[in-house]
Amino acid sequence: MTPSPAQPGTPHEIIVGIDLGTTNSLVAIADESGPRVLTIPGERPLVPSAVRYEGPAGSPRVIVGDDAKARAVQFPLTTITSVKRLMGRSLADASGDLAYLPYTVVEGEHRTARVALPLDGGDRIVSPQEVSASILAALKARAERALGVEVRKAVVTVPAYFDDAQRQATRDAGRLAGLDVVRIVNEPTAAALAYGIGLDRDANRNRKPESVVAVFDLGGGTFDISILRLTAAPSPGETAFFQVLSTTGDTRLGGDDIDHALVALFTRELRERAWLHPTAEPAPDVRRALKQFAEEVKHRLSDADQAKVRIDVGAGGDAASRVYERSITRSELDAISAPFIDRAMRCCERALGDAARELGQSGGATDDVAARAAIDAVVLVGGSTRMPLVRRRVAEFFGLEPYTALDPDQVVALGAAVQGSLLSGAARGSLLLDVVPLSLGIETVGGAVAKLILRNSPVPARATEMFSTSVDGQTSIRLAVHQGEREMAADCRLLGEFHLRGLPPMPAGIPQIEVEFLVDANGVLRVGATERRTGKRASIQVVPNHGLTRDEVDRMERESFAHARDDMVRHRVTDLVVNAKMDLKWIGDRLAKHGAALETGQRAELERLATELRVMVESAERDWKSVQPDAMHRAKDALDRASVRLQEISITESLRGQEP
Ligand code: ADP
Ligand code: MG
Repeated sequence: MTPSPAQPGTPHEIIVGIDLGTTNSLVAIADESGPRVLTIPGERPLVPSAVRYEGPAGSPRVIVGDDAKARAVQFPLTTITSVKRLMGRSLADASGDLAYLPYTVVEGEHRTARVALPLDGGDRIVSPQEVSASILAALKARAERALGVEVRKAVVTVPAYFDDAQRQATRDAGRLAGLDVVRIVNEPTAAALAYGIGLDRDANRNRKPESVVAVFDLGGGTFDISILRLTAAPSPGETAFFQVLSTTGDTRLGGDDIDHALVALFTRELRERAWLHPTAEPAPDVRRALKQFAEEVKHRLSDADQAKVRIDVGAGGDAASRVYERSITRSELDAISAPFIDRAMRCCERALGDAARELGQSGGATDDVAARAAIDAVVLVGGSTRMPLVRRRVAEFFGLEPYTALDPDQVVALGAAVQGSLLSGAARGSLLLDVVPLSLGIETVGGAVAKLILRNSPVPARATEMFSTSVDGQTSIRLAVHQGEREMAADCRLLGEFHLRGLPPMPAGIPQIEVEFLVDANGVLRVGATERRTGKRASIQVVPNHGLTRDEVDRMERESFAHARDDMVRHRVTDLVVNAKMDLKWIGDRLAKHGAALETGQRAELERLATELRVMVESAERDWKSVQPDAMHRAKDALDRASVRLQEISITESLRGQEP
């Protein structure tokens, strides 16, 4: 037999993208509608990289994600967090990390680091690969539930500094989880890919064939700064090159440090009130509450200027209830975080120096300046880069507004998914953005859209327009960015919105607000609004064609709800088919045996109903969507009711048959 060419329209094999993070992990896919993180309705898109083992040492239960994270303090010895720090490392390599890991790390075969778990009936020794495999298996299951098909292949990301052993360990973890890791991709490369940077070059437009990108990744426990050189693909579908010029960082720096500093603050104040023992560690549940509060408050302060803490410390000796209440401002948090961000910025200086050498310059102060000037784009990655202080410091340092259009904690998974779709052949050249595919504009009073950039404008594109207020004394103006060809905002797609606040009260129409739209060569849209007289400014970034904004995330959530409904219908049809086939078989057999005993009319009716149901079953087996479950249920019911007489005859006859 000769192999036949692939059928046109054959679906490409799915290759998902996985960010297997120290703190959080995610799975994403890139298809016709662009890259998106796969979620289960009602669950968060992030899966905490925490795994708890419970029960007998021989066959423990494994709990992955939110629940494991939430109870890590309660079960310090059987909950494994930050296992990425142990991947592919010897016990000696990992020794610096051990003091920070609450569980027990021991030496396994070939001096590898293993975790010893005290479970019922003894210790269980697990390898970091097995623990990571549990996380990957949870992500695989999540992807399969979201997509409704089996997922066998994945692109998995690792830090740029991972050595061969660490990369191999990551592959092995995939294999243990039933995933073929078709490619290991550096996290900073994935982040650049998510923005479509360096994917392809179009000679007709002056997109740079080569660009230098800094990827600033501040996660939960690690900080990485990488400088990449991207050589765009000569034409769509050909390979783009990503070269890591330098990568530095701090494996002990991240959002956790800020949480701990907040916990230290709360603890100090609780001790001042004598609500906590002056020196002893607080009880595990108090510690857990403090840590959770610290993280929540920190997250809220990324959006709000102020947040409240309220911790119930329980009743004291005098039985008076003790509730610790405090409000924290953004600037207080900034002061607490500053020393950590300073450390990250010092790493950036080192990374620039190293890159300067790689770029063929000798290194040294003036070359650092040159290297800084050579950077074309800065991409923010990691949940902690949501902090406004971090964004400000990075923008100051590089003298560039960093890319923030994509969710920083999703960017790596999205990029891995883009790589996956390129490898599967599903996304050939689909990320090309030479023209703006849909018009871009601002919603004006009354709900119409003022278009600033028209569809099919070549990129990069820039446009400005003046707006004003519509109400006397208005001090804040809402700017809603829309995409689409229709005239009314309600018929277009909302890409994002922001507010320009702090305008001095003036009569309507007096403030002069300049709105600027800028689409760069990678398709990232920046919208800025400046009030001319006061210089007040606000801005937003979005990726109009293939990125994810909050609204899109919401839309996807709705879609996945629709999926959930689909899945339910499918499930019902499948069950009906199984039962209907059993009924048809039973009735067919009985008809053959006892059919003669039925009245002709009854028999004809039964055969008619059976045929009707059989046609539905066959159709459902070809395509479950082709039948209405309710109609099928009615058909099955009708057949069941019509077969009552046949059942009676059959029972009577079989009883008679048993008579001696
Ligand atoms: P990793 O790459 O280490 O797995 P992530 O990129 O998921 O980590 O980042 C996790 C960190 O980001 C945590 O410290 C978390 O508290 C922090 N983080 C997440 N969202 C926000 C937010 N809105 N504001 C500030 N920090 C945040
Ligand atoms: Mg990360």
